[in-house]
Parts: sequence; structure tokens; C-alpha cells
Amino acid sequence: MKKRCLVLVTVDCLRADHVGFLGYRRPVTPTLDSLAAQSVVFEDAIVAGAPTYFSFPGIMASRHPLSLGRTVLGIAPQESTLATALHDSGYRTGAFVAGNPYLTARFGYDQGFDEFRDFMTAAAATELMPGAHVPLSKLNRWIDEVSHRNRVAGASYDELYFWYCQWRSSRQRVSLDGLRRYPAADVLVDHATDWMRGLGEEDFFLWIHLMDPHHPYYPPTDAMMAVGAPAVTAQRARFLNSFWNRGDIGPTRWQKYRDEILSLYDAGIYWVDKQIGRLIKILQSLGRWDETVFAVTADHGEEFLEHGVRYHSPVHLPEELIRVPLLIRAPGLGAAKIESVFSHIHLAPTLLDSVGAVVPPTFVGRSRWGEISAGQLSPETVVVECLDGCNNPFQVKDRIRPRLLAVRDREHMLTIRFGENRETFSSVKEGRENEASASAKKKYAQFVRRAGEHVKLATRNRRSQTAMRARIRELRYEGGSGIEMEIGPKTGG
Ligand SMILES: [Zn+2]
Repeated sequence: MKKRCLVLVTVDCLRADHVGFLGYRRPVTPTLDSLAAQSVVFEDAIVAGAPTYFSFPGIMASRHPLSLGRTVLGIAPQESTLATALHDSGYRTGAFVAGNPYLTARFGYDQGFDEFRDFMTAAAATELMPGAHVPLSKLNRWIDEVSHRNRVAGASYDELYFWYCQWRSSRQRVSLDGLRRYPAADVLVDHATDWMRGLGEEDFFLWIHLMDPHHPYYPPTDAMMAVGAPAVTAQRARFLNSFWNRGDIGPTRWQKYRDEILSLYDAGIYWVDKQIGRLIKILQSLGRWDETVFAVTADHGEEFLEHGVRYHSPVHLPEELIRVPLLIRAPGLGAAKIESVFSHIHLAPTLLDSVGAVVPPTFVGRSRWGEISAGQLSPETVVVECLDGCNNPFQVKDRIRPRLLAVRDREHMLTIRFGENRETFSSVKEGRENEASASAKKKYAQFVRRAGEHVKLATRNRRSQTAMRARIRELRYEGGSGIEMEIGPKTGG
């Protein structure tokens, strides 16, 4: 049987309610919206964890992010993944990742790929590292330290210092392209195209990870105009990003710039959408489109003060972070809307099944391809997990934080903070806590049981050899190179 090619596009920070085919009003995703009209659209796709480093083990290796132990990050050496399975089936495999430091060879994401380009540059790596600010001079450091001995003086110093930095940078000539920290989607599509052109007739698996909606938000100028946002100069975009990034103020002051920040974010989404359109045209021109399964999803969403915080820090697991867009377009498969909850855990086995490849036995998820083809998915209760407040997984001390776990179905969600022994049970739609109805109480009890089973199973099934290999790799980085990165709090990957 002639095999099919597989293309997986993952978009960093793309939340479900900012794509047109899931109801967003602003026209930022015309390509995806028309693709959705010929695809299977999952209205309630839920990540296995958030942010990037807790999400991708689910996407690539079909397992829960903490199932190898909380000190293991990424894909373990020799662990089976979507890429290794396809490689073993005779596929040519290529990955083009737009400079996300958590999706690199260090964390095993190159496994199974013939071609792996992570576009890591010093600029991208340091920018994603929270707290990597312009170093203070010795005098400034002293004033900073002295003024912070008093709360009011400290706040005044922070305020003055922020505006001083703004004044200084306002005198520099900058462009949006020059400020951008990650290669834009067009660059990734260009590189992927060159790779595909060199393949001839061979079957391939292409993974592209795009960072355009990730902060700092510096979209191309064309994208700003296309989403109907007021024209923003590079200076203004830099000011907005700097202000939004301030850790010394609170939501009331951030709120003032929220709409402008959202426009920058949406413009990043628009650019991703436009480049996905270009990628589809290229696949068509190469004569590959009719034999390609094409999937688009995100590793997690993004918050814009809905709960008082910004970015995508795993300090809680709200809808804005855990619900993502997901569509699968496959030749011969009609359009359908799947209302049931779908966990990313099932994505890799489902995609493997869609191209007729063998699903590795280590995958925790199962193929839902048969159900999808029939247009009906059985309802499910899914688990999302991360480490509470782990913003800097390069540091081991951040990786031994307590677990934060959510159990969710279409109507309800239970969140358990293991560190504080605290839980909340709420309705997904209304976000209301502690429903008192009899059916809600019954479901609450079921969810608590499910959480307990999840934790128990994770411990029992832990593959110690696999986990050990990952720990050895990590020790090599920590001890060998001495590059455990010194970075502060805040945003995750
Ligand atoms: Zn991410």
C-alpha cells in the first residue's frame, strides 16, 4: 500500500479561542478556517501539560509529562516517539523548530529525525529565559539594593528605572524585524520547503514548530495591518512588551495596555496562518498534498489577565492554557466536528494510525482514528499535569516542586494542588466553583478517584531504565558543562 506523508504543525502559545474556526471574531486565521472546513476539527482538545516542557512529552511520546519522575524533562534517550516510529517505518523525517530551548537535542527532541534544526541562537535562548534582563551597572545595583530596603522607595526606584530604560531605548533606531527573538514562520517554511524538495518521491514526516505568538510579541508589520490593528511602530511595540513584562506592578496597570498587546499577539497568529497557507500551496505544487495527513495544534495557550496573570506560567491550569486548537485534514476523510474532549495523549498514536504506521507499545494514549473516521468519539475524562510554578526547568530545584493536576471532562474540572493539599471543582463553562447538585457531587467523587489512579499508575508504571537514561543525560549537562542557567521567575516555555 502506498504510504501517506504526515505534516504536524505545532504553534507555541496559540489558545483555542483565538482561531476563527473555534469562534474567534477577529479574522486572524482565514487559512485555518478554510482548512477546517475540510478537516476533522476537535472543539475540546486538551494538552497533557503546560507549558512547552510539560506539554510536548504528551504530543511526541504519548505519555504524561511526569510519568518518568519529576526530575526528568523532555524525551528520554531511546524513548519511542512519533518521529522514531515513523523513522522505523521507513519515513524520512525532518523537524524545524523556531528556537524554543526546551525543544532541542538536549531534551531528546531530535530523536528519530534525519534532519533536526532548532534555530537556537544566543538571542532566542536568553530571551526565553525569564529574568534575562539588561545587566544593571554596579552603581545601579547598589542603588537598587539600598532603595529596596524600604517598600515605597523600592517601588519608586523600580518606576524610575523602568522609565529611564524606556527613555534610553527610545533613542535607538529599531524595526519590528530587528526586535523579533525567534525566526518568523516564513523562515521555518522556507527551510522545510528546501528539505522537502530534496526528498524526491520518498514518504516523509515533517514537524514544524512556530513561535510567532510567543512573547515578546513582535509580529511582521504586514501582519499588524492585516488584523486591522492600529499601526504600531517598533518603538511602541517594544514599550508595550517591556511594560507587559514588568514584574514590579500589578494587573490594574497592565490592563491599560491589554488591547494593544492582544493585537500584537493576534498579528503573530495571523502570520502563522498565512505561512501555513503557503506551506499547503507548496505541498500542492510538489504533488504531495493529496497524499498528506496534515495536523495543526498548539502546545498550550496564553493568558492575558483573565485570572490576573500574563504569559503561560504553570501556576494554575485554566482553560486559556490547557484548551488548544486541533485539526486533522486527511485525504479521503470528510469534514467533521468532534465535540468530545480529546487529550493530546492520543494524538501521536492517532496520527500514526492515520498513515498506517505501527504504534509503539510504550504509548499511553491509544489511536482514536477508527472513531474519528466514524465521526464519533466516545466521551472521555482527561488528565493535565505540571509542577506548580515550575518556570525554570533548567534548574533542578524548580523541577522538584509539588504536582499540580487537573481532571477534566466536557463539563467539569477538578484541580488539585498537591503542595497545599487544596482542590477546586468547577464548571468548565461558568468557571464556578463547588457545584452542590447531586450529579456534580457524584462527578467530583469520580474525578478524585481518577486523580488518585493517575498518580498511583504513574508511580507503578515508571520505566526506571528509561528514567535513568534521562537522568544520566541531564547530569552530563549539569556537571559536564556547568551551564545550568541562572534565570529568574515568570514565564515558562
Ligand atoms: Zn510553549
